[in-house]
Amino acid sequence: MKPQTSILIALDSVGIDPLGHNRPESVYSESRFLFPRNPTQSSVLGPQPCLFLPDAPVPGFLIETDVTNGHQSGAIECALTYTSIFCGSSALARHGLMQGLGLREQLLVEMIAERNLFREFGRPCLANAVFPLHCDCFGGSFVEDLLPAASRQEIETAVHWRGKPVKLTGRDKHGTAELFTLAEINRNIFIHAARQAGVRLRTYEDVRSGAALTSSLTHELEAEFDFSAFDLAPLPLREVETAAGILSQLAEEHDFVFYKYQIPDLVSHTGQISAARAVFQTIEAFVAALLNRIDPAQTVVVITSDHGHLEQIAYTHGHPKTKVPTWCFGLDSERAKQVQTPEAIFHLLTAKQD
Ligand SMILES: [Zn+2]
Repeated sequence: MKPQTSILIALDSVGIDPLGHNRPESVYSESRFLFPRNPTQSSVLGPQPCLFLPDAPVPGFLIETDVTNGHQSGAIECALTYTSIFCGSSALARHGLMQGLGLREQLLVEMIAERNLFREFGRPCLANAVFPLHCDCFGGSFVEDLLPAASRQEIETAVHWRGKPVKLTGRDKHGTAELFTLAEINRNIFIHAARQAGVRLRTYEDVRSGAALTSSLTHELEAEFDFSAFDLAPLPLREVETAAGILSQLAEEHDFVFYKYQIPDLVSHTGQISAARAVFQTIEAFVAALLNRIDPAQTVVVITSDHGHLEQIAYTHGHPKTKVPTWCFGLDSERAKQVQTPEAIFHLLTAKQD
């Protein structure tokens, strides 16, 4: 019998709508199955910690996950949540919320050295390909010793986006600073965790051959860049269904597959509600296509987020400290409802099955 496989998908900046997803103004009001409408509930999920999804392609549940552990002072950022997920204990309990967005990366690295989700599996896989350039103007990355480095000046004179030279604008993620997000993926703690566990880092060549995904899923960013000065051809656009097929194929070949989808974060920082609705549609289409390809008796699929923002795009600029959704498929409600903290996801995925 084929061993059980787990797929963990990490969205970025997708929170529970604190005003309720039933109201027409909600970014999630057109949801097909991930946020089921319930006319008797005015806000959030109601008293149920674990909501059955009646219209999902396979049986599944929606759980509210608290990424801030009740902390209020400081900022919640990606690295904290992903460290908690990847080492199975709360990075917030050790670190607290970030002050001034400072990343005490050494502490996170120490936690990953203690325990690392990738090391818990015999055949782990990181589905994201790393961005094939180390941009030294963005600070250290977990792959800088593997990739050719480019300075800010080299990038601004040699790289074009939609036909114009890119202008890097620091931490601002608007406009041409998409490059920031592409390079940022190389700095994420899960890249470090994968390397530390000896997981092969996938490349843009793997993307071209259908053996990896990019952090934009459809290459909507990557397809618009001209990197020819660095001998890199742009990636052609990819359909959501194709991406789902690649992820399900990776799950056939591994017992744990992790994928991080970055676009909701980028969209959240634009403040455009129509773009937020569109990116949620992409998420739902991708998840539906994936669920249609897996056997829920053999495969567990967990989809979660690191912090909110998309749901409050109309009125919030930072990352709000609201709860995030975690969706579980291929699990019964007793197990699914355990994922009320990021660290619980580690324990859910690594618990021995009956
Ligand atoms: Zn994030």
